[in-house]
Order: sequence, then C-alpha cells, then structure tokens
Amino acid sequence: MSDLKSDINTARLLVSLRLDEASDDANTVRSLAEEAMKVAKPKALFKEAFIDEKGHDYVVIDGVTFKSRVLRVNLDGVNRVFPYVVTAGRELDEWSNSVDGMLEQYWADQIKEFILGTAYDDFVARITAAYGLGKTASMNPGSLEDWPIREQPKLFGLLGDPMQSIGVELTDSCLMIPAKSVSGIRFATESTYENCQLCSRKNCPNRRAPYDPHLWEQRYKMSEGRGQN
Ligand code: SF4
Repeated sequence: MSDLKSDINTARLLVSLRLDEASDDANTVRSLAEEAMKVAKPKALFKEAFIDEKGHDYVVIDGVTFKSRVLRVNLDGVNRVFPYVVTAGRELDEWSNSVDGMLEQYWADQIKEFILGTAYDDFVARITAAYGLGKTASMNPGSLEDWPIREQPKLFGLLGDPMQSIGVELTDSCLMIPAKSVSGIRFATESTYENCQLCSRKNCPNRRAPYDPHLWEQRYKMSEGRGQN
C-alpha cells in the first residue's frame, strides 16, 4: 500500500503540544503541518500468513519461529495473521531534516508521529475491511521484554524486502529507519489486548490501556516445571 492517508487533525496536534490556538507558535505549527501533509507518502507492507505450529512459548508462522509466550497465548484459536510494517516514509524524513530551529524540529517530529498514526489507522481499517477481520489486536517486537526487539529481523524476513518495497531498513540494533515506522503482527481476536496492559512504564505519552499488574500471572505465566498453559 502506497496511498495511505496522511491528513492530521491540527487542533488535536496543538492540544498535544500545549499551544494556544491563537499564538504565533500555533501558526508556525499549522504551516509546518501543511507542508508535511503535502510531502508525506506513508506506505505499508503486509502479508496474509498462516500458523504452522504452536509450542508453549513460540509460534511458527510461514516457516519462521517467533519466541514469545504472550504472542503464543494471544494466538490461541488463531490460524491466520497479518505481519506488517507501516512507515510515515522517507519523504517526510527528508522534509523534517530541512526544518530549521530546535523547537521547529521538535514540532516536525510530533507532526511525523501524528502522520504515522493516521497512516497506521488507515492501514488497519483497510485490512480489517478487505479480509473481514472484525475485532483485531496487534503485537510488536520490542514492545515487551517477552518479545524482544531482536526478533525484528525475522518479522522483516517474513515480509520479504521492506527496504526495497517501502524504504524501511533495520539498524544493527534492530531499530527501524525511518524511525517513524511501526512493525508487528495483527490478528483477529475476540479478546481485548494492548501491549500497554503488560507494560509498567510510567508517564508514557503513547499509552493506550492501563497497566494491569495481575494480567501476566492470570493469563500468560506458564505453570511450574512443564511450562504449560
Ligand atoms: S505503555 Fe508506552 S512503552 Fe509501554 S507498551 Fe504502551 S506505548 Fe509502549
């Protein structure tokens, strides 16, 4: 997908930046956002994939083994998944590199974050409609200790060549370039799941669900010795 939406709600952006709508700074942010929306070409790469095998703390998807107890439990009763990478795009990175001033650079970074959010929501809406998925959830390598960032190359391998397809590459430490990209595995589920439910990080601006200190014990912890459900 290379035609994802890139429009952002500038009123919401100003609220998140804590800027008065009538201020000169707000005018600058609005004109930066206009520029960014014109330049941005967000893209997504994904595939429909199938689960070959499930163990206690791993799943094999299209021949690739992912080691995560949480992913494994969340995929109970699931046979089809959608590995993906969504990016705000290199065009937007090049634009933000040309923005002068420290404060303006910060605003440009937040604008890119908003554009990635719009593109990601569009991607989810489109695959949900195209494949009749209903309620879905997603897991992302690196968002939990249980599924570390070092699993990222396997996800990229499952998708072929994200660098060639949508311009996203991995650094030696498995971070994505452009940084305003998100990768993961999306799947249909009746349960409500957000990584944030298992993440105790305080004051995270991107938190989507409250931390549940009992969820690991209740749902994911393997029984002593056998490591079974
Ligand atoms: S709370 Fe923040 S860091 Fe933790 S999983 Fe959610 S978004 Fe990621």
